[in-house]
Formats: sequence, C-alpha cells, structure tokens
Amino acid sequence: MDKTKDLFKKCIEYTIADEVKAQGVYPFFHPIDENEGPVVSFGGRKLVMAGSNNYLGLTADPRVKAASINAINKYGTSCSGSRYMTGTVNLHVELEEKLADFFEKERCLLFSTGYQTGQGIIPTLVQRGEYIVSDRDNHASLVAASIMAQGAGANLVRYNHNNMEDLERVLQTIPETAGRLIVSDGVFSVSGEIVDLPNLVKLAKKYNARILIDDAHAVGVIGKNGKGTPSEFNLVNEVDLIMGTFSKTFGSLGGYVVGDRSVINYIKHNASSLIFSASPTPASVAAVLATLEIIQTEPELMERLITNTDYVRQALIKAGFTLMPSRTAIVTVLISDQIKTLLFWKKLFDAGVYVNAFIRPGVMPGHEALRTSFMATHQQAHLDKVITEFCTIGKELGVI
Ligand code: PMP
Repeated sequence: MDKTKDLFKKCIEYTIADEVKAQGVYPFFHPIDENEGPVVSFGGRKLVMAGSNNYLGLTADPRVKAASINAINKYGTSCSGSRYMTGTVNLHVELEEKLADFFEKERCLLFSTGYQTGQGIIPTLVQRGEYIVSDRDNHASLVAASIMAQGAGANLVRYNHNNMEDLERVLQTIPETAGRLIVSDGVFSVSGEIVDLPNLVKLAKKYNARILIDDAHAVGVIGKNGKGTPSEFNLVNEVDLIMGTFSKTFGSLGGYVVGDRSVINYIKHNASSLIFSASPTPASVAAVLATLEIIQTEPELMERLITNTDYVRQALIKAGFTLMPSRTAIVTVLISDQIKTLLFWKKLFDAGVYVNAFIRPGVMPGHEALRTSFMATHQQAHLDKVITEFCTIGKELGVI
C-alpha cells in the first residue's frame, strides 16, 4: 500500500502557474467586470479588448440582448435536458433550418458548444479501422475528438500544417478500402491563416476522402455574406461537413454542423456529446437567430472588421513586428520567447490593451506569441491605442 504512488502527487508538485503569478505576469483567468465589446473593464479600469472572438461586436448589440431576454421570458433559463429527450424547443428547430439555408446545406444540427460539436462528429463518423486525416495545427477540440475516436479503434494520421504535398503523402499510406475523413480548421485559430481548400478538395476527390472543415474563425469574416471558408473559395458543394461555434461571430454559446440529410441524421441519432448533454439554452439560441439576421442584412459590419484588422496589421508590419500569415480577423505577433511574451502581455495590460498570450503548452517552444483579434465595432482611437502601445513596448523589450 505504501508503495502506491498518490494520484494527486503531480498536482501538489505543479507550481508553474503559482510561480508566474508570483512574478506578476500571469495572463490567464482575469475576471472582466464589465464588457461593452471593444472596451472591457477590470477592477474598474477600462482596457481596449484586442483579443476577443466577438468579431462583429454583436454580443453588445441591443437587438441581440433583447432576443435573449425574450427567449428567457418565454422558455425559461434552461431546457433542462438533452435535445434527444425533453430539451428541444421551437427555437432549436428554427435555428437549424435557418443555418442550413445560410450555409447552403441540406441539414443542420446544433450542439451545446463548438468543442462538443467536434466530439459529436468525429468519433461518431470515423469508426474502427477507418481514418482521420488531420492537419497538425488543428484546434485542440478536434485533436481531442480524434483521440477519442482513436480510443474506439479509428486510425489517426496527421499531415504537416496546411501542406498539401504532405497530405497527399499521408493519403497514399491509407489502405484503399478504408473510409477516411480529412479534418481541417478553415481559419486556423492561432495564426488566422486560411486552409488551402482548393488543393485539399482536389486531393479528397483523388483519394476518395470526405471533408470536415471547422469554420469557427471564418464565419462573419470571410466568404459571401460571411459564410466562411468553403464559400470564400466557391467550394460549398465540395465540402461534406462544415462545423462551427456560436461563441465567436454569432455572439453566443453553442455549436453546429451542416451537411447532407443522411449524415446529419446519423450524427443526430448516434453522437454521444449530443445525446448525453443538455441542449443549448433558449437565450443562447435566440441570440444566434438575432445575430444571423444581422450578419445577413448588414454586410458593412464585415467590411469594417476587415478594414480595422488590416489597419492594425499593416501598422505592426511597418513597425517591424513579425506576424503569422493571415488576412482574417486574427493578427498574431511572434515573440518567440516565453518570458518576453509574458512581460509584453503584462505591459500591454497595464497600459490598457488586453490581448492573448500564447505560451507552452498551447504553442511549441519558440513559437510563443501575442494573439490579437479585432472587431467591427472598434473605433479608430481603439486601434491607434493598440498600435501605439505595441510599438512602445516592442521597442522597450527589444522585439522591434
Ligand atoms: N474550433 C475552433 C477552431 C475553435 O477556435 C474553438 C474555440 N476556441 C472551438 C472549436 C470550440 O468552440 P467553443 O468555444 O464553442 O467550445
């Protein structure tokens, strides 16, 4: 008995977060006390929010707030059950129909988060002996979903990030008779880079693979009317499944997948993360119905988002920063050093700019970065503040 290693030993010995806190540069879990969208408040101090995924700024839109409040008044605060059983309300069905139309697919299925959406699709569709072919830089939720499928006997093979030669090499290693699903982010979440979809589609056709694109960071940002990556490349019909989240442009919480009737029907009746988890709340779904309407009727929001982001991107490039390749709403500044990244983050925070620090284990050593992202509702003064503080601190720390 004495020889048994205590399961919690690793927790007791885990000190890194406390050490970073003691140094005063801890960048995580800071509670916001007020959120107006482009400006947030911490302990009464206002900061420009330059790290949110609220791309069109719709979480603060009075029409969206009113829609959520109305839904609570009609349906209450929770559905208290899974979609499968007692947790479906009219709003879920209405949103599924509208999203299927918006994304030009036959059917849509809602989940309670984007994370659960991947877990509902990948292990359900890719079964024993079949293959998941995954980009090495895919979002952590897709990696977790793929590992879950692997645990049930599926094969997981990875190709180098957005590298279509390597994708072909990997596809050639798969037995001809095995089913295969290529999985990729549409817009990669760390860098903002867009997948090489035209070549990915060509390879999928050549090697008889199905395609799943996670378009979490693409909706409201690229594509016709903000319809995302497949629409951007005019390849909606060639992409079998498109999934996404409501926690970014849609200004809410939840996830969705769209595709052919038979595939969505199969996921609907077999996905564990759907069947055994409570449905999205009426307030969350109503907010998406409202934002979906705004996305479709106010294209100027998307134009402003792109203009705002390009403005910051060009200024940071001109100042000498190294950015990851992106033309979406994400601007990631490479710092390539853990301590410098944390210090830079803290100095920005103190100066009134809130961004995301990407350090290990979120990124590989040497790829530490500050990830910024912008909103349609940022004003010129907000953007100038971000640029000025980046330049001042960048010089101070010898980054530029
Ligand atoms: N996929 C991608 C590409 C994401 O960036 C995220 C969220 N960061 C998710 C899935 C998970 O979405 P959610 O926040 O709704 O769980």
